[in-house]
Amino acid sequence: MNLILLGPPGAGKGTQGALLASHFDVPRIATGDLLREAVRRGTPMGQKAQSYMDAGELVPDPVILGLVREVLEDHAGSSSGSGDSGDSPGAIFDGFPRNIPQAEALDELLEELNMSLDAVILVDVPDDVLVKRLSGRRSCPECGKVHNIHYDPPSEEGVCDRCGGTLVERADDAPETVRKRLTVYRQSTEPLIEFYDDSPTPVRRVDGDGPVKIVQKRILEELGG
Ligand code: ADP
Ligand code: AMP
Repeated sequence: MNLILLGPPGAGKGTQGALLASHFDVPRIATGDLLREAVRRGTPMGQKAQSYMDAGELVPDPVILGLVREVLEDHAGSSSGSGDSGDSPGAIFDGFPRNIPQAEALDELLEELNMSLDAVILVDVPDDVLVKRLSGRRSCPECGKVHNIHYDPPSEEGVCDRCGGTLVERADDAPETVRKRLTVYRQSTEPLIEFYDDSPTPVRRVDGDGPVKIVQKRILEELGG
């Protein structure tokens, strides 16, 4: 199962991606999470990415494509004893691709690894809901769990329910950066809808406005069970 989750920031790609990854028992490849981890560790890639992320802009394609290739080759290699990457169970792509050159590069990479794309899901959420969700997002840097002070508050304020870590607000969830990220989404990422509609895997739209479990059910129904 190779599945792309498309949608604006705050649509719930990370939330649904984690549920789908566990449902289908495949890894979730979330470029945003990988980049934040690189920034946190201060790696050369993290140093290159940070200023773009802080500004709500896309990190340059060569950085992203190098990162995705590395992760995908790793998964393809580790899932097959024979070294034949065609045996790979696939992945849930969350936040990647973000523009047409990335989508073209993903096509090539999948072909090279003897894999194919199975579905593209667009998680649709109105802008006012996105803004409210992003203003309430609180993430745990220790275990990756994402809470929301409006919709899914932790039992103890500021403390991760899963691991007890200290929850943080993402710097790029500040209102002015959110505005920039939404503009970047409309300009660079939304054209992917037409790109995939003209491909063998047209976009399947799912209403992402509603409780997490209901949205998950809609996605699974769209995927045919
Ligand atoms: P994305 O990865 O698309 O940016 P997230 O999955 O991080 O979005 O979700 C953004 C915020 O909204 C998080 O705080 C998350 O807990 C919350 N959230 C996700 N899905 C829903 C939903 N269906 N209803 C309410 N809040 C949600
Ligand atoms: P996300 O966690 O998906 O909201 O991404 C956070 C930030 O990471 C984005 O605003 C970008 O700066 C950067 N980023 C994540 N994925 C990509 C990508 N595929 N291409 C370019 N930049 C990305």
